[in-house]
Amino acid sequence: MAKKHEEVMELAKRRGFIWPSFEIYGGVAGFYDFGPLGSLLKNKIIQKWREFYVVREGFFEIDSPSIVPEEVLRASGHVDHFVDAMVECQKCGSAFRVVDLVLEQTGKGIEGMPKEEMDRFVKEHKARCPDCGGELGKIFDFNAMFRTAIGPGSQRVGYLRPETAQGIFIDFKRLQRYARGKLPFGVVQIGKGYRNEISPRQGIIRLREFTMAEAEVFFDPEDPRHPRFSEMAREQLRLWRAGDQIKGKEQLTEVTAEQAVERKVVCNELMAYYLALTNRFLLDLGIPSEVIRFREQTPEQRAHYSSETWDAEVSTERFGWVEVAGLAYRTDYDLSRHAQFSKEDMTIFSADKKRKVLCHVMEPSYGIDRPLYCLLEHSYVSEKRKYLRLKKELAPIEVGVFPLLNRDGMPEKAREVYESLRLKGFMAEYDDAGSIGRRYARADEIGVPYCVTTDHETLKQNDVTIRHRDTMKQIRVGIEKLPDVIKKLLNDEIEFDKAGKPIETTSK
Ligand SMILES: [Zn+2]
Repeated sequence: MAKKHEEVMELAKRRGFIWPSFEIYGGVAGFYDFGPLGSLLKNKIIQKWREFYVVREGFFEIDSPSIVPEEVLRASGHVDHFVDAMVECQKCGSAFRVVDLVLEQTGKGIEGMPKEEMDRFVKEHKARCPDCGGELGKIFDFNAMFRTAIGPGSQRVGYLRPETAQGIFIDFKRLQRYARGKLPFGVVQIGKGYRNEISPRQGIIRLREFTMAEAEVFFDPEDPRHPRFSEMAREQLRLWRAGDQIKGKEQLTEVTAEQAVERKVVCNELMAYYLALTNRFLLDLGIPSEVIRFREQTPEQRAHYSSETWDAEVSTERFGWVEVAGLAYRTDYDLSRHAQFSKEDMTIFSADKKRKVLCHVMEPSYGIDRPLYCLLEHSYVSEKRKYLRLKKELAPIEVGVFPLLNRDGMPEKAREVYESLRLKGFMAEYDDAGSIGRRYARADEIGVPYCVTTDHETLKQNDVTIRHRDTMKQIRVGIEKLPDVIKKLLNDEIEFDKAGKPIETTSK
C-alpha cells in the first residue's frame, strides 16, 4: 500500500525536491525544506498562479508582513475562533484534539459541538487516553496561531499570520482608491502562512509553515456577477454537496458552472466562476480531471468568517482526498469587523454612486505546497522506466546536455552547448557521470523534457541529437539552430518530429 507515495517521496528527497527541515538536529514535524529542484518547481507553480490571477483576472498583488499585531486578529476573529478543543491526559500529560479522539474511539463526528456538550460527551462515552489509557481532564481551547512579542519585553503581542488575507483587508481603503472605486476588484497576496498544528503526521500535507496564494474579490452584494462569466459558463464541475455528505451519500453533482448558478447549487455567479477557474488551474498544472472534486463544507466545518465554502480536493494514494484550495464566501464579515475595531469607515460608493456599500468578499485561497505534492504523485510514471511526466512549462530543468562519451572532444563540445543555452536563458543541466543510459534515466526521473547529446557526428557536422522525454524519439538539429528549436519545443510552437531530422534509435 502507498507504494507510489513511498517512491515519490524517496525520489523527492534523493533528487532535491523536498527535504525534512532541521534534519541534522533530528527534524521537526510539520516543516519541510524545498531543495533546488523543489524551489524551481514551486516558483513555477506560483508563476502559473500569477498568470491566472494577476495577469488574466487583472488583480493587484500586494506583500504585507507575516507578523501581525494582536488587535488585527482580534478583529478578524482568529484570536477567539482559530481554536481547537483539546483534552489532556491526567496521567501521562499527552494532549489530543477532542474531535479526533472521539471519532477514533466512538466513530462519532462531533465537529461544531459546544464545549460543555463535548465535555459531557467525552465523560458519557468514557473516552480514555489512547497512549496510556489514563483518565482525561477538562476540555480546553488551544489557539493554533504562533504567538510572539513585537519589540523587547512583551508589551505588544503579535502572531505569525494564519492567512495572508488580513493584510489585504487592512489595506482595503488604499486598495479601492488604487482600483478607482471600480467593482468588482480583486487583490492577491502570495506568502507564508502559519498554523501550529497539534500533531502533524501527514508529512508534506500538514505543514506548520506553508506557502499560500490568496485572492480577495471585493464586490457589491447587490451585484454578485463576474463580467466575463461567459468564458467559464461551460466548465464542467464535480461537486460534492454538503446535504449529500450529511446524508452519507458519496454521489457527486456534475454540472457546468452556469447550471450550478441556475440550480442554486452555489450561492452566486462569482462562486461558480472561481470554482471553474480553480478547476482550470488544477487541470493546467497537469492534475487529471478524474481526481479533482469540489467538496462543500458543512456548516460545522466552515470557518467563522464564511457563509459558504467549497474545498478543491485532489485524490492521492497515501492521503486520500487532499484539500488544495478553498473558495469561501466571506460576506462583509472582515470589512465590517475591521470597521468596528479600527473605527475607520470601510464603505464605498456603488457603481451608480447612489448607495454606500460595504463590499462583500469572495475568496479563492490556495495552498502551494500541497498541489506541488499532488503534482509529483500524479506526474510520476513507474513502468518500464520511471519518469516525471511534468508539463514542459513546469519542469524545473528544461534541457539536459550530455556528451555521448567522455572522450574525443565530446565533453568540451557539450559544455559549450550547455553554457550557450544557459546564457540564452534556458534552465539547462550538464551531466557526464556514468553511461548515457544512466544520464537519460536521471533526467527522466526529474522530468527534464528534452535532452541534448553531442557525439562523433557533432564534431564533424556541428549538430546534436535532441531526445523527447515521453516518447524517447530523437531528432538531429544544427547547433546554431538549437536555442531557437528548444524554445519552440518548450512553447509548443512546433511538433517534435518536425523540429529536426528524425533519427532511428537503437539505444533506450
Ligand atoms: Zn496518557
